[in-house]
Amino acid sequence: MVKVVKFGGSSLADAEHFRMVERIILEEPERRYVVPSAPGKRFSSDTKVTDMLYECYQIASQGDNIDASFAKIVDRYNSIIEGLGIELDLSKEFESIKTSFALHAGRDYAASRGEYLNGLILAKLLGFDFIDAAKVVRFAEDGTFDDETTDKILNAELDRHYRAVIPGFYGSMPNGTIKTFSRGGSDITGSIVARAARATIYENWTDVSGYLMTDPRIVDSPCGINNITYHEMRELSYMGAGVLHEDSIFPVRAAKIPINIRNTNDPSVKGTMIVPNGTDIPDEAHIITGIAGRKGFTILNIEKAHMNSEIGFGRRVLSAIESEGITFEHLPSGIDTMSVVLSGEISVDQKNRILNNICATCLPEYIGFEGGLALIAVVGRGMVHNKGTAAKVFSAVADANINIRMIDQGSSEINIILGVDEKDFETALRAIYDKFVKH
Ligand code: ADP
Ligand code: ASP
Ligand code: MG
Repeated sequence: MVKVVKFGGSSLADAEHFRMVERIILEEPERRYVVPSAPGKRFSSDTKVTDMLYECYQIASQGDNIDASFAKIVDRYNSIIEGLGIELDLSKEFESIKTSFALHAGRDYAASRGEYLNGLILAKLLGFDFIDAAKVVRFAEDGTFDDETTDKILNAELDRHYRAVIPGFYGSMPNGTIKTFSRGGSDITGSIVARAARATIYENWTDVSGYLMTDPRIVDSPCGINNITYHEMRELSYMGAGVLHEDSIFPVRAAKIPINIRNTNDPSVKGTMIVPNGTDIPDEAHIITGIAGRKGFTILNIEKAHMNSEIGFGRRVLSAIESEGITFEHLPSGIDTMSVVLSGEISVDQKNRILNNICATCLPEYIGFEGGLALIAVVGRGMVHNKGTAAKVFSAVADANINIRMIDQGSSEINIILGVDEKDFETALRAIYDKFVKH
């Protein structure tokens, strides 16, 4: 039996946490493969090492002196090594990284050193082998993760190491340069290693006791979730429940390896099990599994009588957006109206080009952008069997005197998405939570 364990940044922020991690790993001999993140925040105003590395590289790429900025990073690692009292001298590594910064080795290379160095320390502390992720995690020419090649190489490499530390977050391109996943990507590495190790479980150790029904920064002490499906977890993560990277289910999904979210600071708690669809019973008590949300969306509203019967209307709208290199998030539509929800910054020039393009190709009666939208996703596989869930969500928001600007229900019927003004976001989320949990 093999268990793969991934530890997040807050679990490896200082020597004291390294000791807790060491205890957890050594407690179960099945915990054979370990994926560390870079050191995270030690207190709320602290800076994650990954952010320090990005900043330092930014200074280097402007051609400015990085001595002071780099020294702070070296200090973070040295204080861990000293705190642990282990015999490890990383000065050669630091020198070579600093030289590479000066030679502009790349932003991804810079960020990846956070995990790389932390992996070296953890391997030394545990007496495990160290496997550089650049050797075993591969990206394709177009920058996407190369699933097949990675699984083959990594599976063979793990066979050669009974116990090993494999740093998270990065891998390499076909030409050998370093590439990282998006932020929070060590979760993905953990999943890749779990699949390649043919593990029975992927334990993801963090600073909360599993998935909570909603963001603990918005609702005080929300209920925990015992069981959640891959699909639900992906919907919640994508919409802001930052516990686990939303892409981390893909590697383990085919192999049906469950993910267990655990708390490094409270290892006796069982945490949340993330399991394949339909193999378990939902947490019956609340119908819904969780609520998550994010701010920063823009909506493009288009009106034209009978647009539904006009062939190619939707395609022309979407191709105007595509030509600006923008992807869309949601597409709620009626017979005479269509809305396209977009995320992230969209410049005034981009907006004008999209409006002109659609006006010319679709001749709408009304078209306009509205910014400042927050989306809230109410997610739960229990909703399929419970009538009136949507009504309950909407009445919770209406009772809080909040106007709903958009509604969308995914075809899988496991989520309801609603859009509200950013200023109403937290209140709406709390109102929905209270309606389902306190009633
Ligand atoms: P790590 O550094 O271990 O990868 P993250 O910071 O990425 O940890 O994820 C854990 C954090 O996710 C928690 O500290 C918590 O603030 C936040 N979070 C957001 N939504 C939720 C939720 N629904 N349940 C639990 N934690 C949540
Ligand atoms: N260290 C990286 C980040 O801060 C990856 C991770 O922590 O998962 O995004
Ligand atoms: Mg994380």
